[in-house]
Amino acid sequence: MNIIDTDDISEKLRLKGIDTSNQKISITNFSGSDQEKDLTEPANCDGFGRIRHFKMKNSSDWPANPLPIVPALHKLGKDKANEISAQVFQNSICNWRCWYCFVDFKLLSGSKKYSSFLHCDELVDMYLSNEDRPSMIDLSGGQPDLTPEWIPWMMAALQKKGLEKEVFLWSDDNLSNDFFWKYLSDEQISDIESYEMYSKVCCFKGVDEISFEVNTQADGSLFHRQLELFQRFAATNIDMYAYITLTADKRTQPETSIPKFLDRIQKIKNEFPLRIVPLKIFTFTPMKDRTSVDQTELLLGQEKAIEIWQKEIDRRFTHEQKQTPIYMI
Ligand code: SF4
Repeated sequence: MNIIDTDDISEKLRLKGIDTSNQKISITNFSGSDQEKDLTEPANCDGFGRIRHFKMKNSSDWPANPLPIVPALHKLGKDKANEISAQVFQNSICNWRCWYCFVDFKLLSGSKKYSSFLHCDELVDMYLSNEDRPSMIDLSGGQPDLTPEWIPWMMAALQKKGLEKEVFLWSDDNLSNDFFWKYLSDEQISDIESYEMYSKVCCFKGVDEISFEVNTQADGSLFHRQLELFQRFAATNIDMYAYITLTADKRTQPETSIPKFLDRIQKIKNEFPLRIVPLKIFTFTPMKDRTSVDQTELLLGQEKAIEIWQKEIDRRFTHEQKQTPIYMI
């Protein structure tokens, strides 16, 4: 397996993913992609958007996933529900190549064939043109934080239309780089922190160096950087959550690596493991050609790991803590 030079490729991809002078972001168009085949309904917004239905329970043998449903409904002042729909836009670049990614890799390299530079005002106009538009916008990827300006630009575009209290904004981050601090001004960071209707989710890509490397194709040492970046984000006033993927091959010992991982998270904030949701990996069309890893073994690994994850959560937290709505933790 070729190991990705994350820092080098991140800067190169950023140049392909953003037009700072015109405040535009390279946005994926799904037309003709493998990802399009997995969409439950056709792409919208001229091919640049899709509607995603987030569901609390995707599998009977896996814990419920309250993200982003519970924080979104809370911020929107809506009643509890088991699902929420979101208008998704994807930026067209990502610095990693997770074998389980549901996005075609050809949609992650800033290819002009599958993307165009759009201003956030254009994205908001396209969103508003949907008659049946959801109350949530998900800025996804790709890796949105290669172009962290996307978040404050989108906030400004929503404010311009007077939508800042009506639309919940959610964005993903793979915890791979410090561009949030490198490229955003203090004022932009402070605007993000004070934007009430925004929450951010970060994604841990494994439970140790080995599983991280096999999952992402990036150097295993960056597993530790994920935790360092998470600690930096946790020190901001942003409403933060995280996913973790537990897929691992036989070299990973979840009995020891999961407790160690949770110890490190608890050192950042004691109850933060309760804001981390294990994501079950399912098979998607774009995964069929990714034969450099043993997908069957990795998928089996997540089944063993989830049992240990649950036992550790039960050992570390009371029933009351586990019942607390995720946004109150
Ligand atoms: S970090 Fe996310 S977008 Fe990038 S390859 Fe991994 S799953 Fe896909």
